Amino acid sequence: MNERVKCLIIGSGPAGYTAAIYASRANLSPVLYEGIQPGGQLTTTTEVENFPGYPEGITGTELMEDLKKQATKYGADARSGIATSVDFSSNPKKVVIDGEKTIEADAVIISTGASAKYLGLPDESKYAGMGVSACATCDGFFYRKKTVAVVGGGDTACEEAIYLSGLAGKVYLIVRKPSLRASKVMQDRVLKNEKIEVLFETNTLGLFGDNGVEGAHLVKRAGESGEEKFDIAIDGFFLAIGHKPNTDIFAGQIDLDEVGYIKTVPGTPKTNVAGVFAAGDVADPHYRQAITAAGSGCQAAIEAERYLSALEG
Ligand code: NDP
Repeated sequence: MNERVKCLIIGSGPAGYTAAIYASRANLSPVLYEGIQPGGQLTTTTEVENFPGYPEGITGTELMEDLKKQATKYGADARSGIATSVDFSSNPKKVVIDGEKTIEADAVIISTGASAKYLGLPDESKYAGMGVSACATCDGFFYRKKTVAVVGGGDTACEEAIYLSGLAGKVYLIVRKPSLRASKVMQDRVLKNEKIEVLFETNTLGLFGDNGVEGAHLVKRAGESGEEKFDIAIDGFFLAIGHKPNTDIFAGQIDLDEVGYIKTVPGTPKTNVAGVFAAGDVADPHYRQAITAAGSGCQAAIEAERYLSALEG
């Protein structure tokens, strides 16, 4: 069963819906598939206070519902379904949905996002939205003058620990190795910061608390002779152990970097395949914000419109 569309958008975060708003207003009649997590990563955060236009803040879910409403108002066709394979080797491009239906599209906008990595502890889901977060920029504000922990030893963890030290009273950085992986300059900043205490060779065993996170059970040098188990009192637990871009189905079809992020022509949403564009976190390991994703969704739709005009012209 095949269906032919002009513009197909894969993914329903701020990038996908913004692309849908622009593409529908440009008469491209875009079809958008929402993917595994309709609304994307924002639906897993609580209050969004840094998206321009919402001075009182808005929940992630409401923000995504608003964006969806705005896209469908102008004719975007938002559907539930997951892209399971793609073939970009010829025109039109082919995208299989839920393993059964094939959509043929002249232009494809990929906005499948990225997923934060978690440690895999049951307590991470137990306290989701109640003290566990994978985004300091999103949620740090709720921990003013409180005590938080950040897990990870890379640039993201250091950046998040430094950011949180500007808000929180104290920040623990939980690092599994005896050293940080982050760049030298970030390491120096962390180690010089009086509000940050680095706990090297330490892993998290679990979290505790009655009404949200109140502390973490940790172990130092697990399995070694000097193994030491101890608890810390914290109000927030931030994961910063990396993100995984959701690009498995695009491997071999478009250029990805060594981590799996889609490579784009710098400053544009263009991939190495004409007519295929990438927007949002799927092509952005650096900023990862709703507003930057929305901005790149807009760029992708404008480029798709130009590509389609040239194709028709
Ligand atoms: P990285 O992969 O660089 O670091 C991940 C960190 O998490 C490592 O310290 C790793 O430990 C730790 N980790 C992974 N899994 C676990 C686990 N299960 N338990 C405990 N710790 C774990 O990811 P980042 O997100 O930090 O950075 C991604 C890329 O983006 C990098 O190239 C980075 O340089 C770049 N970046 C640059 C920034 C900048 O220039 N301002 C800011 C942010 C990111 P271990 O070291 O033991 O493997």
